[in-house]
Amino acid sequence: MAKDYYAILGVSRDASPDELKKAYRKLARQYHPDVNPAPEAQEQFKDISAAYEVLSDPQKRQMVDLGGDPLSPNSGGMPPGGSPFVGFQDIMDAFFGNSTSRGPRSRVRAGADAVLRLDLDLTETAFGVEAPITVDTAVVCGTCEGEGTAAGTHPVTCDMCQGRGEVQSVQRTFLGQVVTARPCAACQGFGTVIPSPCATCAGDGRVRSRRSLTVKIPAGVEDGMRIRLSGQGEVGPGGGPAGDLYVEIHERRHEVFTRKGDDLHCTVSVPMTAAALGTQITIKTLDGEEPVEIRPGTQPGTEVRIKGKGVTHLRNIGTGGTRGDIRIHLDVKTPTKLDAESERLLREFAKARGEEIVEVSKQAGGFFSRVKDALK
Ligand SMILES: [Zn+2]
Ligand SMILES: [Zn+2]
Repeated sequence: MAKDYYAILGVSRDASPDELKKAYRKLARQYHPDVNPAPEAQEQFKDISAAYEVLSDPQKRQMVDLGGDPLSPNSGGMPPGGSPFVGFQDIMDAFFGNSTSRGPRSRVRAGADAVLRLDLDLTETAFGVEAPITVDTAVVCGTCEGEGTAAGTHPVTCDMCQGRGEVQSVQRTFLGQVVTARPCAACQGFGTVIPSPCATCAGDGRVRSRRSLTVKIPAGVEDGMRIRLSGQGEVGPGGGPAGDLYVEIHERRHEVFTRKGDDLHCTVSVPMTAAALGTQITIKTLDGEEPVEIRPGTQPGTEVRIKGKGVTHLRNIGTGGTRGDIRIHLDVKTPTKLDAESERLLREFAKARGEEIVEVSKQAGGFFSRVKDALK
């Protein structure tokens, strides 16, 4: 007897390709071996996949609509009589609307992903770290191993729906008989009930648990990045496979450096005299103290770089890893409070350089003259 592929997918005979796809995805999520370890689920998943393969192919679907079975080796594709109904079950379906049946839903479902925030110092994001974390997620109940039943008991078929997971009601309307199906209230659509639930998990098959893990943070991670730990998320209802755990990186503010990509920026104030005469300063980098040369005649806003002392470039892990730079922005400080002696020396200095009278600078080459040129 040919299989009723429409019933397997739970769609009507005039279902659009979109409806087919939707129905298939929904069922596949429910019966995929990764999600549902029950042996009968594996069979069901095979049937669902075969049904979708046939109905999503217009030619094969036409064969089915004529009563044939494209996957049956004996049918040759065409039915002997071209009957619109393949068998007794189909006739029943046509009358009682079983073709829209969804069947009982599985107690075992995949778990959700979890997100955990991890605060790290700049040194840790720059060089990488093995960080200990505490994870609080649902894990498989150790008492019932996920089944949700008390020791020695098992789920039993629901009396209300006879294991179908849904109840149907027939209503007479002016359009004729309308069959509606809704999830069975007695078993929440599972098709089975648990007569004596596990005392530890109250039948859910999972319990909350706190555990410690070590997460390897690669050098060069940035604020907001997420590191995925496969299968370390929440265990699903009925002890279903765990989702993933995402560790979200939050970089703490550093007291000196502001990070921009792989470069570290900082501002250093230099006294006017040091900027004019030149000097050497010491910068405390992530690697230790580093001397920095301030050249004589340094202007405000000058940038000095310490090459290769920034953050390791994330993509270069394992290849030695090139690093960003430290970029020092020099700010020249003009003295504000002058004692009599300093003032006298500065006046003398100004006199020596002929700077007693400050002239407004000429426009030649300046910003405004360039604007004027552009307007000409
Ligand atoms: Zn339990
Ligand atoms: Zn039921």
